[in-house]
Amino acid sequence: MDRRRFLQGATIASGMALTTQGFAKAVPAAPAAGGMVPRVVSTWDFGVAANQAAWKVLSAGGRSLDAVEQGVRVPEADLRNHSVGKGGYPDRDGKVTLDASIMDEHGNCGAVAAMEHIAHPISVARRVMERTPHVLLVGDGALQFALEQGFPREELLTPDADKAWHEWLKTAKYKPVANSEVKTYNAGPGGTPGDATNHDTIGMLAIDAKGNLSGACTTSGMAWKLHGRVGDSPIIGAGLYVDNEVGGATSTGVGEEVIRNVGSFLVVELMRQGRSPEDACREAVERIIRRKPDARDLQVGFLAMDTKGNVGAWAIQKGFSYAVCDAAKQDTLIPGKSSY
Ligand code: ASP
Repeated sequence: MDRRRFLQGATIASGMALTTQGFAKAVPAAPAAGGMVPRVVSTWDFGVAANQAAWKVLSAGGRSLDAVEQGVRVPEADLRNHSVGKGGYPDRDGKVTLDASIMDEHGNCGAVAAMEHIAHPISVARRVMERTPHVLLVGDGALQFALEQGFPREELLTPDADKAWHEWLKTAKYKPVANSEVKTYNAGPGGTPGDATNHDTIGMLAIDAKGNLSGACTTSGMAWKLHGRVGDSPIIGAGLYVDNEVGGATSTGVGEEVIRNVGSFLVVELMRQGRSPEDACREAVERIIRRKPDARDLQVGFLAMDTKGNVGAWAIQKGFSYAVCDAAKQDTLIPGKSSY
């Protein structure tokens, strides 16, 4: 028998919680009577609304895979969100290109990268997983597949995003092309590459009433990126990894640093070795900094959940937050701990 059937509930890793109603004294622990705790977690403050959509699926006894897909479709459709889906900031050529990945409890996975004109890349990623023998489709091929699957072709560049891009063009310095000496990441108004003012991703992990884990990750990537640039989000093992025997992890921030360290896979493997979700995330962040000390000036955050529903996160810089939703509370927002 699956050992997780014996588990009697779970608690979230220690920490104080913010809710949309104000400040909570402690994060909730919400064991469901008799065993498994459905729970969904996701990155950043916009994770609260996404979690609530996922919770509709989980609380009705649905599958975690359906929950994460439905959940991340919320920020994908939110035109005020300039880092995910339609309304996302474009690359330096003014093209909105989207990345997404999804992974289920069986280790099945699907992803799309640098895909234009489709508002819900997460659902295309799921189709790649379920209807092709492949894992990752990119660019025009991903778009062709999505159209063949019946997804509508849309203009993703909103007037707001177009305006912001034109503003950026006035002072644009980001030109890391061959023979260029400029190889820095692009910072947003907050000044830190990868922070919430420049780009951020929704990464979501859910555990359902059967104790099965799934994850999803979707983004428009780094604002003003080179056309064709792909970050960590659609790379299985980098932006997302789920192992139903151990737990799941997802990441946000400067994707290149996550890819170099195969970040989400690393977090899951550290949990397999016995680390708590928070400790595993912290070690993954610190490995990035050990290998490249300059990375301390960037933002990268990891979020993880184990098979018991324990949750933890860690980021390089202050300012990272993650949302937790379960039967006890559907709008918990927790400030992520950080190394700096
Ligand atoms: N990690 C994503 C990327 O690098 C974007 C982000 O989280 O801000 O594409």
